[in-house]
Amino acid sequence: MKYPEVQNFINGVFTNASSNRQMEVISPIDSTLLAVMTLSNKSDLDRAVKAAADAFPGWSKTPIKERVQVFFRYKTLLEKHMVELSRLVQEENGKTFDEARAEIEKSIELTEFACSLPQLVTGEILEVSRGVECRTEHIPLGVVASIVPFNFPSMVPNWTLPNAIALGNCMIMKPSEKVPLSCGKIAELLKEAGLPDGVFNIIQGDSEMVEAICDHSGIEAVSFVGSTKVAKIVYSRATSNYKRCIALGGAKNHLLVLPDAIPQMTAANVAASMSGCAGQRCMAASVMLAVGEVDHIIEKICDEVRKIVPGVNLGAVINKESKDRIENYIAEAEKQGAKILVDGRNPKVDGKEKGTYVGPTVIDFVTPEMAVAREEIFGPVISIIRVNTVDEALAIENANPYGNAASVFTQNGGVARYIIEHASAGMIGVNVGVPVPREPFPFGGWNESKFGVGDITGKSSIEFWTKLKKSTTKWSPEAGVNWMS
Ligand code: NAD
Repeated sequence: MKYPEVQNFINGVFTNASSNRQMEVISPIDSTLLAVMTLSNKSDLDRAVKAAADAFPGWSKTPIKERVQVFFRYKTLLEKHMVELSRLVQEENGKTFDEARAEIEKSIELTEFACSLPQLVTGEILEVSRGVECRTEHIPLGVVASIVPFNFPSMVPNWTLPNAIALGNCMIMKPSEKVPLSCGKIAELLKEAGLPDGVFNIIQGDSEMVEAICDHSGIEAVSFVGSTKVAKIVYSRATSNYKRCIALGGAKNHLLVLPDAIPQMTAANVAASMSGCAGQRCMAASVMLAVGEVDHIIEKICDEVRKIVPGVNLGAVINKESKDRIENYIAEAEKQGAKILVDGRNPKVDGKEKGTYVGPTVIDFVTPEMAVAREEIFGPVISIIRVNTVDEALAIENANPYGNAASVFTQNGGVARYIIEHASAGMIGVNVGVPVPREPFPFGGWNESKFGVGDITGKSSIEFWTKLKKSTTKWSPEAGVNWMS
């Protein structure tokens, strides 16, 4: 086994979980056993919540300008440990080293945003009447929780923890049981950066722990990122327990490709979007709506896709179950009459025969009723639907229950604007295949890709992780008695 047993991190100390249920952490690259993990039970969560609650009075009263100093140091530590952190993400998730490194770079960008929070939470003050002032202040909520998925073991935890903690909260993080290792390293670095014990805690576990978090009376707010099925469970369970909740779900992202698109740039972007992180990105292109005559672009897309080699510049998918699911989608589409232009099923990956790889796959002549057109595949697969008009394309995009991202490839600004206005998705790209807003712009989809108000990053997260205190003060004796008195 490569690593010691995966542990919880409670009150600044790594400790064993106390259930008798164990899981193995397997690398998707070659099926190496990386570590074993004991799953937590309710008593572990109780201890973590108590540690966080005990730390809260001291941490929340620390001025924000002091709190963010921890994150300036954390950022430097992320930079210093870039290679080690990237390797860990690569090993446990299966993505390529470059993709893992990009994830750490994004974690650094998210931390930089948290460092800027003192500039953004100054509150407001106004003399509303002679001698009478109204003022707002952002107050931290208390103990909060963050539940994260397997596809970004470092970046998604860093969507929430720097902002929530810099704003004065104490956090319980529940990593994905498929990739529990990177979070442990994050905890080590936060401690080295000077974060007081108890402010950040990790509870390793599975769905049982998620349910316990949603039910725990000591937790004020829950943020969730994962599939739509679980996002719905978490959102309804946490809010029915009167907690604040934002729950980001799955996706089915559409790319509209128009005949006037620049062929080479479009092909490179489409190929990168559908295959990056082995298609296991909630922002990955999944359906290409080919508007009119775009065969010359489809040919180039296939050329680009053929340059993507599993085990070289394409990572593994998370496990055998995912590989089978993805390959079954391709087989079903073929059976229903779609044409497989590039077939990535069962690739041979020299030296990594035990890895769970699926090669990039392009499926043409897909119809909107097919499962590959409707459901989240979460693999390196793009389904091409041929349509005659932009409105026909938009009707298909709009009918999908998800709404994370949509992109258009065109040189026509008017058409691009029309698509920005009419696509039913929270994040839109124009000639950009993966339209992730960079900090300080917030990240968040629409429809069944997100439940709850606001977005998870950027300024929007300030509203989620704090509550506003409104005070009205009168010190001046000459302020008269009026309807405010
Ligand atoms: P998942 O929903 O299976 O798991 C996410 C978390 O929920 C994990 O921590 C897991 O332990 C827990 N969980 C799993 N099943 C549960 C259940 N039945 N009850 C309670 N908790 C449960 O998601 P995943 O497979 O880890 O991640 C992939 C999914 O996440 C994809 O659907 C992807 O689109 C989505 N995702 C969305 C975004 C976004 O921003 N919208 C970002 C990243 C990933």
